[in-house]
Amino acid sequence: MHDYQASNDALKEKVILVTGAGDGIGKVAAIEYAKHGATVILLGKTVAKLEAVYDEIVALGAPQPAIVPLDMKGATKQHYRDLAATIENEFGRLDGLLNNASIIGSLGPLEHFCVSTFENIMKVNVTAQAVLTKSLFPLLRKAPHASIVFTSSGVGREGREFWGAYAISKFATEGMMQTWSKEVGKTNIRINCINPGATRTAMRAIAFPGEDKDKLKTPADLMPTYLYMMSDDSIGVNGQSIDAQPKN
Ligand code: NDP
Repeated sequence: MHDYQASNDALKEKVILVTGAGDGIGKVAAIEYAKHGATVILLGKTVAKLEAVYDEIVALGAPQPAIVPLDMKGATKQHYRDLAATIENEFGRLDGLLNNASIIGSLGPLEHFCVSTFENIMKVNVTAQAVLTKSLFPLLRKAPHASIVFTSSGVGREGREFWGAYAISKFATEGMMQTWSKEVGKTNIRINCINPGATRTAMRAIAFPGEDKDKLKTPADLMPTYLYMMSDDSIGVNGQSIDAQPKN
């Protein structure tokens, strides 16, 4: 799927929600989904960033997107219930959910972890995504075919020293995907993870401030996998953790 080529209308008629759509990989995925015909719901923390993505999508002549400003750190289950009701009223359907937003916190030895940072990371990277997904499940169940994608990481598959709560949250993400995908089995819903791999974004710059950014893949390089997982070409793929970058 690394060289997957989506047709221009691969996502036509689909409604797809992307979390963390204002920056990094989520921003590029949202624009790419819109370019391929999807109506994209842009959820994120910083309104100005979401508005810039909105404007870019409208300027492309793609379907008009929607903006959902929401800080997943503070959001409650009522926020997600209200969101599901709004999507049902406004669009009448939901075909895709890209759980992409995450925070990295600070790297360091677990022996010295900060409890509030740990809790924030687990809230944004795990709990909020579980509650959002649960709230949107009834709508996704009604879609002809629905794709839920969680975002994993290499440090969510094999522990790495000093990656602390972020690594733990990504192990939890893999576990959530595995558990949930087995529960849905062979239904209209498929649930998978994408592991982006090292990618040139603000988050990567926090983790590796000294590295040469030009040597990194860009979010655009990952889009064949992101498009494949949302298109009907991935129907039948369930319970997989997929690398968006080919192994060298
Ligand atoms: P960025 O930090 O560039 O972007 C993260 C996005 O998530 C931003 O739009 C940010 O919004 C949003 N976000 C953060 N906190 C919240 C919150 N509390 N509520 C709502 N939205 C929030 O990250 P990347 O694009 O690099 O990462 C995307 C995904 O890929 C993450 O899940 C990450 O763990 C994963 N990943 C990334 C890798 C990489 O090398 N880049 C490698 C492996 C995995 P705002 O800008 O407004 O804060």
